[in-house]
Amino acid sequence: MLSSYTYWAMNGERYIEVILPLKLDWNPVYRTSDPRIGVGSRVRVMFSGREYTAVVSAVDVRAGTTDPGKIREIVAADDSFAPSGKEEIEFWKAVSAYYLCSVGEVFKAAYPSMKIENDEHRRRRDKRLQGSIERYEKLLSRARKDETRERYAARLEELKGRGAIPSVTPDGILLTRPQKDALSEIESSDRTVLLNGVTGSGKTEIYMELARKTLEKGKNVLYLVPEIALSRQLEERIARRFPDVLVFHSRLTAARKRDVPTEVRLRENYIVLGTRSALFLPHHGLGLVIVDEEFDTSYKQDSPAPRYHGRETAIILSKIHGAKAVLGSATPSLESLYNCSVGRFKEVRLGERYYRGAPSEVLVVDTVAEKKKRGMRGNLSLKLIQKISETLGRGGQIMLLRARRSYAPAVQCEDCGYIPKCPDCNVALTLHKGLVDRLVCHYCTHVEPFTGTCGKCGGNLVPIGAGTQRIEEEVRKLFPGTEVSRLDGDTPEAEGRRIVHDFENGKIRILIGTQVLTKGFDFGSVSLVGVLEADSLLALQDFRADERALQLLEQFRGRSSRRGEKGLFVVQTREPEHPVFRALTSGEMPDFLEERRAAGFPPYTRELRIVIKDGNEKRLKMLSADLARALNVPHTGPYAPANERIGGQSFRHIRIMLPRDRNLSSTKQKIAAAVSSFEKDRRYAGHIVIDVDPI
Ligand code: ADP
Ligand code: ZN
Repeated sequence: MLSSYTYWAMNGERYIEVILPLKLDWNPVYRTSDPRIGVGSRVRVMFSGREYTAVVSAVDVRAGTTDPGKIREIVAADDSFAPSGKEEIEFWKAVSAYYLCSVGEVFKAAYPSMKIENDEHRRRRDKRLQGSIERYEKLLSRARKDETRERYAARLEELKGRGAIPSVTPDGILLTRPQKDALSEIESSDRTVLLNGVTGSGKTEIYMELARKTLEKGKNVLYLVPEIALSRQLEERIARRFPDVLVFHSRLTAARKRDVPTEVRLRENYIVLGTRSALFLPHHGLGLVIVDEEFDTSYKQDSPAPRYHGRETAIILSKIHGAKAVLGSATPSLESLYNCSVGRFKEVRLGERYYRGAPSEVLVVDTVAEKKKRGMRGNLSLKLIQKISETLGRGGQIMLLRARRSYAPAVQCEDCGYIPKCPDCNVALTLHKGLVDRLVCHYCTHVEPFTGTCGKCGGNLVPIGAGTQRIEEEVRKLFPGTEVSRLDGDTPEAEGRRIVHDFENGKIRILIGTQVLTKGFDFGSVSLVGVLEADSLLALQDFRADERALQLLEQFRGRSSRRGEKGLFVVQTREPEHPVFRALTSGEMPDFLEERRAAGFPPYTRELRIVIKDGNEKRLKMLSADLARALNVPHTGPYAPANERIGGQSFRHIRIMLPRDRNLSSTKQKIAAAVSSFEKDRRYAGHIVIDVDPI
């Protein structure tokens, strides 16, 4: 055995352990004689020849077996930044343990810029406060009822006197009986709650009521949504009720991204509306964490580490704070349904829509059969065209979904059959029309002009299939004089807002788009929604594809007939007998949970995916096979994923399904350790990532 010396610091000096914003699997120790430094303090330290801002994770530690002569002193305490709270550090540690990354990587995700709050930030904050004051002054001068005037006046006083604290603007909503029942069920539960309620049943009203009550008790609220850019509608709705809501997501300006954490830290009472990254704000006193549309895959962070899921992480956070966690959806994830079935979550149902009205009817159109009968005009069936005309005739609005953006997902030479592919990825280039037509790779940044001439034989390149842009072109031709618009990943953000606005006020009659159309829009007079080439939602080699397709279709279906009127949902497919489409018409859900159980798939097991990449195909093949052997656990693979080559790198996956027993977390740690020693032995760092609960 090695003899181990334990050194203690001397002469008023202490040893402290710090978290560096790096992928380190240990916490380095430094010396300091500054008595003010405690757990959570920021310090500047030298590490590997560079200076970093680190956060102190422990004080008065032993030096361990390190020779004290080698322990360096910190460069300085950094008090331009408020210390991190105990809960914050505990949260980072929990996330790091669950997602098999370093605490430093979580710390880095929480403080990506590490900029110091300075006078400029304070000035901006004051300016915003001034903005709120002006807003209320306007409201006050417009308010007619005495009661309302009084409220605004009181609020103004508050703002002028004490700075912004959350206020609530009552909007006269009285919860219905079923909503009240759901609310009290949620309040009385001591477990995580899954609020399972159809679209339009008033879940959002319940969240807002819960939030109001939480704030009233002096506790804070985190309200998570999958995406914000286009769900501005929800943002506006929340802001009407909670004028001081802090909005946080990745598309904020750099200044605002710095500002919000400071606000959260400084405010005693707050409500944050944000995307998953809002989990890492310096929360304190949380009483409620809401995860809206909990099934949505945008909650999962792909890269960089931590590769976390917003839903699971929200539960971790709420446990640390002793806060209530409420997950909600019309189409809950199997993970949450599973957790309800084993009693870990409490399921609360909300069956009725607020604006009554039955769910929309479903019409499945078999495009193969229609083609034979000459029932197709381009990509639209005559049946759908007929329904669109009728809807327009009644003054209604229509949404059409096609899951691929672009004009065409590929182009092909009429003469030699050549399909241009991305030089760096193993995928066909998509055609985008514009002032200049372009061929674009959807997996990397590659773009080239489209000349229409085959690079191989000089023949004619023609579009294959149709993306949203081509559908838009067809619809415009079919319905001349009708206002048609398109919303997808190619729409600039400001333009997207304008489109949402114009669709809301009825100016746009037909809206074509990708999956964004399914996300939380609440348009009163949409009575027809249609999906073109619904097959493309299924055609993924993934055991979750059917579950996802059904969630997406149900969400989209919920976009029609929101205001009582019975809507129609048209699904065009080549495979009308597929269980997913059958489920839509019959209402009989495939038993996804049972299928997963029988196959030993999540949520009955926990999946770890190990992803290995390399620019060199041969080395990848060899090293991925070696790694799989070195793991020493049952696994499948290494296998090539659907997009095997992206951006000049080739990929292999190794899949491990772990039983959900009490050894789970130690098994995970062992696998992480095996990967890390493999990286070291083979000098292969940077090539391997572990994805816990991949989706
Ligand atoms: P969900 O979040 O379940 O999709 P919403 O909360 O958006 O449902 O409710 C659907 C519509 O019904 C919204 O326009 C909402 O304002 C309205 N609504 C829901 N509950 C009430 C209520 N109790 N009183 C008045 N309007 C309500
Ligand atoms: Zn590419």
